[in-house]
Amino acid sequence: MEINNIRLPHNKGTEKAETITIPLPKRVKILLSQHMGVPCLPLVKSGDKVFVGQKIGDIDAFMSTPVHSSVSGTVEAIVDYLPANGRTCKAIVIESDGLQKASDEVKPPKITDTKSFLKAVRESGCCGLGGAGFPTHVKLTFDKEKTPVDTLVINGAECEPYITSDYREMVENSQDIYDGIKLLQKYLDIERAFICIEDNKPLAIEKLTKISENDDKVSVKKLASSYPQGAEKVTTYAATKRVVKEGELPLNQGVLVVNVSTVGFINRYINNGMPLVEKRVTIDGDAILTPCNARVLIGTPISSVLDFADCNKEIVDKLIAGGPMMGMCIHDFETPVCKTNNAFLGFKKPKKKEEQTNCIRCSRCISACPMKLMPTSIEKAYDRKDKAWLKKLKVNLCMNCGSCSYVCPAKRDLAEKNQLAKRLLAEK
Ligand code: SF4
Ligand code: SF4
Repeated sequence: MEINNIRLPHNKGTEKAETITIPLPKRVKILLSQHMGVPCLPLVKSGDKVFVGQKIGDIDAFMSTPVHSSVSGTVEAIVDYLPANGRTCKAIVIESDGLQKASDEVKPPKITDTKSFLKAVRESGCCGLGGAGFPTHVKLTFDKEKTPVDTLVINGAECEPYITSDYREMVENSQDIYDGIKLLQKYLDIERAFICIEDNKPLAIEKLTKISENDDKVSVKKLASSYPQGAEKVTTYAATKRVVKEGELPLNQGVLVVNVSTVGFINRYINNGMPLVEKRVTIDGDAILTPCNARVLIGTPISSVLDFADCNKEIVDKLIAGGPMMGMCIHDFETPVCKTNNAFLGFKKPKKKEEQTNCIRCSRCISACPMKLMPTSIEKAYDRKDKAWLKKLKVNLCMNCGSCSYVCPAKRDLAEKNQLAKRLLAEK
């Protein structure tokens, strides 16, 4: 079976840009909901002194992960905040004292078995760093009897144009990735691991192949550079030839998929105890004068990140968090950086706006869909609000990769309609 895919211009102009740390912001705004699941409750109040790595938000819920202060300083306020996803949450505003003193809480966790390992992963505040934001400890929790997982797939495909933050993790922190894989294999009892990397990243392939050359349980899989190679179901198939069916997760097929930056971070946390307080992001786009990869504290306003990359904000017509295919448009430059951000792309207004026209029934959208869906029919079914037809068309398999919209000569908003259709089906 072949999975449909498309070829995109890679535009990975920052692939050689070593990660640099951006200056300490005067204040950070740390959202209490940066992951899928239950938002945290604040553990601090206005006027409290906090330190780097101190837990400042948590809740007694499995489907959640704590948040930590990225600066030392004083809590100024706890405010309501409306992020780009439209779900209002609380945010803790902290004024930095400029000292970056680490909290006494920051120490390597004691790991003796699977339970203490998973507890440590939760305490680290980690949630899928590839952008999905699923709490990592939840993803790593499965019953080996009921779900016999035999394969760990480390996702280093990074198929979205422009973004090179995972690539830099593979080049700069390859040992962390390998050691993190060994931790997962040990505590989750997984026989083999594949590090999946697209063939347009030869240096990453070389480094990780060298590190794992004497280990017959870890190997590098070179994948074709096509889109959406990094989507979990696609990567799972490319690595193992196992098909993840409708309503299933890769786990149902015995495969655990973990992002490459996530596994690198887990190893660092287990060794130094510093929770997730910073993120590597790619800053690029035609409105950015100095595209780069930067290490940014969580809670830093995006405006500071753009300033660092010499962006004239006046000329930015579209600011995207993430890649151009699956990223989210940001309306406010003061939006704080979150754990799930891996890129900020600033684009000028296009010279020519492409108008939407009628469908010419060319079927390109169908040929492009990795899930073999019929986006043109889904559009019609959604417009008629026909739930039975939408179910028949299996719209819930849509992963919102955007390939159908990209190839459509009539410039129809197919991927957007699919999302609306999924929401319609979810309505009670
Ligand atoms: S957005 Fe959905 S329907 Fe369109 S190509 Fe991707 S998976 Fe298929
Ligand atoms: S690609 Fe666009 S024009 Fe072609 S069939 Fe699909 S919706 Fe119609």
